[in-house]
Amino acid sequence: MLLLDAGTGLRRLPELLGNRPFNGTVLLTHLHWDHVQGLPFFGSGDRFDATVNLLIPAEDAQTNAEQLLARMMSPPFFPIAPSQLRGDWTFGTLPTGAFDVEGFHVAMAEVPHKGGRTVGFRVNDGRSSMAYVPDHCPTAFGPGPDGLGEYHPAVLDLVDGVDLLVHDAHLRAEEVEAEGSFGHAAAEYAVRLGARTGVGRVALFHHRPERDDTEVDRTLCRFADGPVPVIGAEEGSTLSL
Ligand SMILES: [Zn+2]
Ligand SMILES: [Zn+2]
Repeated sequence: MLLLDAGTGLRRLPELLGNRPFNGTVLLTHLHWDHVQGLPFFGSGDRFDATVNLLIPAEDAQTNAEQLLARMMSPPFFPIAPSQLRGDWTFGTLPTGAFDVEGFHVAMAEVPHKGGRTVGFRVNDGRSSMAYVPDHCPTAFGPGPDGLGEYHPAVLDLVDGVDLLVHDAHLRAEEVEAEGSFGHAAAEYAVRLGARTGVGRVALFHHRPERDDTEVDRTLCRFADGPVPVIGAEEGSTLSL
């Protein structure tokens, strides 16, 4: 079992696992609230028969992973600290470069975002591959060839040729000028990145909170005749690669 990030979707795990305990690894891209706030409510991991290996990007040499997480999860912000979750939990930092975990080969790359180190992952099970870059601010490296942000080597290498690219689509192209520096990418950037690198499919992810389903569909319409198939990531989706 391998989980990428720990947002509120973690609450769905008991149902998905048929009430079995979680025994596996959670990889965090970064520590912003929307990527960690599921941890205190992780029913499949917070039980005595669970085993959870949680790996986060290293922030500095002085603070270990558990101490970092405890900044958001400890009184007075939350009744318990990470160490008080039930089950066998280990907290650590992501290794540098590629590594094998839970039967998957994982590569990672640091990407520009805002406020804290952020990485993206590429996961391969020997048959198929996916890349997950949920929070990415490509304009941090300049406007790039189309004004949407730079297609920089770290992200080009990470996503190259994957079957599925799950990418930040918080903005639309016309919002980049005003909001491109806030930390996120436009849907058009995600799709062009996928097209440039020959990915099989692009899943637009990390929708702006005020976009309802109709608005997400409206964004998808822009890519109906594009060079790469595009879908809108939605809660509860199952994708076969
Ligand atoms: Zn973030
Ligand atoms: Zn986020």
